Order: sequence, then C-alpha cells, then structure tokens
Amino acid sequence: MRFLLLLFPALLLAAEPDWKAVDAESLDLLQRYLRIPSTNPPADTRAAAALFRDELAKVGITAKLYEAGPKGQVNLVARLEGRNKSKKPLVLMNHFDVVPVAREAWSMDPFGGIVKDGSIWGRGALDMKGIGIMQLMAVIAMKKNGIVPDRDIVLFSTCDEETGGDLGVRWMLKNHPGEVDAEYVLDEGGFGTRDVLQKGKLVFGISVAEKQPAWLRIRAKGTAAHGSQPIADNANMALLRAIEKAMAAPPSGKRHPVIAEMLATVGGTLEANKLTNAIQKNTLTLTTLKSGVGDPVKVNVIPSTAEATLDCRLLPGVNAQEFISDMRARINDPRVTVELLTTIDDTPASSFTTPLFETLRKVIKKHHPAAEVTPMMVPYSTDAPKFRKKGLPAYGFTPMILNAELLATMHSDEERIPVDQFHMGVRMMFDVIRSEF
Ligand SMILES: [Zn+2]
Repeated sequence: MRFLLLLFPALLLAAEPDWKAVDAESLDLLQRYLRIPSTNPPADTRAAAALFRDELAKVGITAKLYEAGPKGQVNLVARLEGRNKSKKPLVLMNHFDVVPVAREAWSMDPFGGIVKDGSIWGRGALDMKGIGIMQLMAVIAMKKNGIVPDRDIVLFSTCDEETGGDLGVRWMLKNHPGEVDAEYVLDEGGFGTRDVLQKGKLVFGISVAEKQPAWLRIRAKGTAAHGSQPIADNANMALLRAIEKAMAAPPSGKRHPVIAEMLATVGGTLEANKLTNAIQKNTLTLTTLKSGVGDPVKVNVIPSTAEATLDCRLLPGVNAQEFISDMRARINDPRVTVELLTTIDDTPASSFTTPLFETLRKVIKKHHPAAEVTPMMVPYSTDAPKFRKKGLPAYGFTPMILNAELLATMHSDEERIPVDQFHMGVRMMFDVIRSEF
C-alpha cells in the first residue's frame, strides 16, 4: 500500500475535494433551491425533491421519493453506502418546506435566491435550505471523490416540518421506519455565535434538547348585553383577569442539566437576551386575543365570549398537565376554560457524551480553534425530538457562526446567511461524515 501511495501520490490527493469547485456548485445549488417556493401550507415539495434527486443522480446515488399527501407533499431518502455494515447509519435530516413570507417587508424577492452584500438572501436560507444543501453537498463530495464513509450516511429531507411533521418525519417513521433507521441523527438547532450566548466569545452550541410547546386557549363566557349599561358578567373583563393570573406562573424549579453544562462551558453566565431567557425557564406568551360581535366589531355590544391563546414552552421534564391544572387553580373562575391545543410530547435530552458529539466537537475545533463547544437547549421546535423519543441521540448542528441580527431573520423578513459561513458549513458537514465515530 505504501509503495502504491509513493508511486501515485495523486491517490492521496484525490480524496480531497476541489473546494473552489464545490463552493461554486453549492452556492449555485442553494440559489436554485431558494427559488423554489416550497411554502407550507401547502408544502408542495415536488420541485425541491426533484432538485435533490437530480443532483444525487449525477453522482450515481438513487434517491427514493415518498408521496405523503395529496398536494405534492414529498419526502426524500438517499443513502451513501458505508464500509461498516455492523454500524447503524447516521441520518442527516433537513426539511424542504419553509414558512410563508410577508412580501412587502422584504427589500428583494424572497424567492429570488439573490446574493448581495456577502450574504445569500431568501426564505429558508437559514431555516433550513442552507443546511440542507450543506448536507447534500457533503454527500455528493464524498461520492464524487470516491470516499466511502465508515457507516451508511442517510440523507433524509422532509416535507412538512413547519406544521409539525405529520406528513414528514412522523409519516416516514410510521410508514417506512427501516429507511430512516439510524444510530444518530443530525438536524437543525444549535449554532455558532459570538454574541448570543456570551459577548465576545465564540461559542458553538449543539442542541441536544428543546422545550415542549404547550399551546393553550383561554376562553371566558359571560352575558351578552348593551354596552350602555355595564354588567359584572362581562366576558372581556373575565378574560383579562384570567390572562393576568395565568401569566403569573411560579418560578421554573431547578436548573436543567443541559443549562448547567452550558453555563460551565461559557464560564458561569450567559448573555441576557430573549433566547437565553427562554431556554432557562417555562415561558408564557400571549399571542392572540379575539372578542367582539360583528365585523367591523360593534363598540356598543358586550360579547358573550372572549378568548386568547398562550404559546407556553415548558422545560423538558415539566409535567404539562400539572402546569395547566395549576393555571386553572390560579384563574379560579367557573366562566373561564383553559384548553390544550397541542399534543404534549416530553422528550428527554440526548446524551452529549457520545462518539458523534466528540466528532462534532473536533470538527468545530479544527475549523474554529478558539471556539467553546457546548450542548445546548433551544426554545423552538424541530423534528429532532421524534428521534430522541426513540432513544437516538439527535443533535441540532448548524455549522455556521451567526449573530443575533441574522438569527432574528428566521421565520421573519430578510432571511439570509453569510456566503462564507455557508461554504464553511459545507466543509464542516463533509468532515463530520468522513469521520469514524
Ligand atoms: Zn426548521
């Protein structure tokens, strides 16, 4: 073997992709992907799936497409065969669908795939078409350069993460569990940042846990009456008092182990901001209010009902039913009901002492030697808990350094990612799937 390598050093070099070419190809691919408006609803992901399928076919990988719904909701699975069949695969999970846009709030076409000021702009650039292309390009670069991974790498793209995954990850786990059977999963979630977790310090968070969404509807009933004569049994007033009592939830109890680990990694304190606040406690957000009779609403009518919704996010391990019964006890008004709108799925955190977590740490350190790497809790929801629930370590790995301003564009206007971070992300994803773990 040594003899061969001495004679043919090109054999060694062949293993390293031509990164300039990969950069050009991956940026072009992301631009084309962003131009596909795979908005959910309805999550018509046929064109997105075709783009991935065709790119994989060029390097000889046959993707399987799964039609999960009547409106073009398509999931995709593609496998890069590994050497070691005794190990279960690593699944690289991403979602094709994106949330809708408020077109007038964008300075450019959100489905234009435009590169400007060093960033690539478009709905999904951050959540999560950019990461999807990093995963796709890492697989393509391996195959193109004849690098066989240690274990099978399964690229898994879903059609409806943004509405809860019923036709995406849940559908696949129910109908084709063998196709996405794995030992590990990488999904979206954590990120590298110099300002969100601690100012001036480069911290890379790999998410291992997320909060439980408990969406509640609070409804108050009263007596309909003429606005000219005030009454005590006014549904609006009952609702106002109920909301105030509902929001006065007690402190969230003891520190979650993932938060304790984050604090230890960054040196004791996290930056004070809305994200770090949300991951350390149960949160309650008043998101909607609905009341009044007629459209336009009548100012002189006291309505018989009034309602509000609360987006509550509970720490892992918190009993949602107890949280809600405590809330009902605080409200203590027979005219007011509290209804749970989500299915509660309390999922434990993934272990952060696995060989894959160590691999992620090494890859991050290789590209960013100054970075501190920490497991992380995220306040929002991803598809990862559907795998965590089955006992698999599922990590949220966004291999980019992003600041608070960029992170705030997720699900918002002017969504974008820096081009250099995107290119770096492709390299990091490649290094992860080339590793043995
Ligand atoms: Zn997402």
